[in-house]
Amino acid sequence: MKKKVVIIGVDGATPDLLELWMKEGKLPHLQKIKQDGTYGSLESTIPPFSAPAWASIITGCNPGKHGIYGFESTSSLESHLITSSSRKVPALWNYLTSIGLNSIIVNVPNTYPPEKIDGVMITGLLTPSDESNFTYPKTVKDRLTKEDLGIFELEQLWVDDFPRSYMAKYAPERLLNQIIDQMISHVSVTINLMKESDWDLTMVVIRGTDTAQHFLYKRKDLLLSCYQKVDELIGTMVENFSDAVFFVVSDHGFEEIKTILYPDNVLYNAGLLVPKQDLSQNPTSIFDYLVFKIISSILRIIPPKTIKKIKFIKKILFSSSSKQKLIDFSKTKAFSTADGRGIRICRKGRFSEGIVDPDEYNRLCKEIQTLFEKLQHPDTKEHLVEKIYRCDEVYGEKAKDPPDLVIDVKKGVTAAEWIRTPNVLSRWKKTKKRILPVAFSDDSAGRSGDHAKYGVFFAHGNNIKSNVTIKNANVMDVLPTVFATLDLPVPNDVDGKVHDYIFVEKPSLETVDWDKYSPVKQTLSDSEKQKIKKLKDNLKI
Ligand SMILES: [Zn+2]
Repeated sequence: MKKKVVIIGVDGATPDLLELWMKEGKLPHLQKIKQDGTYGSLESTIPPFSAPAWASIITGCNPGKHGIYGFESTSSLESHLITSSSRKVPALWNYLTSIGLNSIIVNVPNTYPPEKIDGVMITGLLTPSDESNFTYPKTVKDRLTKEDLGIFELEQLWVDDFPRSYMAKYAPERLLNQIIDQMISHVSVTINLMKESDWDLTMVVIRGTDTAQHFLYKRKDLLLSCYQKVDELIGTMVENFSDAVFFVVSDHGFEEIKTILYPDNVLYNAGLLVPKQDLSQNPTSIFDYLVFKIISSILRIIPPKTIKKIKFIKKILFSSSSKQKLIDFSKTKAFSTADGRGIRICRKGRFSEGIVDPDEYNRLCKEIQTLFEKLQHPDTKEHLVEKIYRCDEVYGEKAKDPPDLVIDVKKGVTAAEWIRTPNVLSRWKKTKKRILPVAFSDDSAGRSGDHAKYGVFFAHGNNIKSNVTIKNANVMDVLPTVFATLDLPVPNDVDGKVHDYIFVEKPSLETVDWDKYSPVKQTLSDSEKQKIKKLKDNLKI
């Protein structure tokens, strides 16, 4: 029988909540998958963010190899969102395409622009807008209608997040309904694509759980409704495609936010980050304040979907999100990156604007490490940082453009990549020495939950053992374990491992140099495909 795999990504699905609600019988489909299959927690990347973690899931590699550390590119000091070509190594679908296997890939973060694959791709988070060509083949976009494949509700990062924080405050039920509609649309389009073609791998990412937990973490009643909808959607997929092996994975978990650390404030206080102008007269703060006020007022009248379509508001939202515009790079030695969990050193030679000499680099890294390790909450005096790593400790020595330092925060603490001025600017203005608070207990972006280290990993279907606990699994292990399920040899340069004890009959665990067979990210000519097919037959895969 032909082997087929479905990967359902549930962004931010959290072991604590899932286990509690499965036990209480509130998530019957996931409970059944757990009982009839295998389940365990899944360790995320450091830091546990969607962009690097999904990239590790689809490549089997450490961020040092795939080169994705956050939603922003690290190759220059300017602020640029990453694209699918920022990924330095092949993804699942590149390997499969190179041996003529078909994939359906829907809503996976950072896949825009779509790649040419054998099968269909609809891109996910970081797709610029409805007007972009976000499908491969292009013709699929025209088919995203009610009458055909179904409407596809595109998710956009900043544009969506801005009003969502207000909806969480003023209309949480409405926000939940919007999230649920989006999840239904993504899964329905995926099911329709699966029904009409012959595929070997399907992967869809349900992102609503991430949004709901960021903004509604304290409303457990609403979170439960969100998880129950996910449970129902997973149940429908399993029922419709019972011949496939299902993997349900999350890129990280969630926890309640108690404190928000602002690393840029720490660097500012130490004189390492210098803004272009006096922060007390910072026009961006006043501008942001006004934008917040205006949007919160109009949000009650105009639906967010309409706001998203108004071009000038979109422009304002994007322009206000670039911190780098505030920084005077002729005087700045370091600033935060990767949502405040990384530090970049403005090195001479590496960046044209860089001012830090190579012989000053090590000393500066140590100075910043000491600075962060000592950090305490201004009121409770609790330490805020678990550990601050040099990049090679986390990503290896050959990492491509990593942040220079990586911050691992204490439980309940999150970080934000922004210079945050005190809430009452006038009071701050009167003090002589302008030291910024390094931590706040309210989040200016309206989040009540943030990412935690462990997500979940379920496997279920033909040849998967029943009631087995998955141990010590990492996001990098998903690709090798999926390859083993498909009876494919594992590429020898991936970092993850196969969890072979989950299989009833163990597959032959061969590793191969896929480079020989797969020209990365290219569409192959028919003769090339033939050549690869021959090689594949020789390998008996
Ligand atoms: Zn995520």
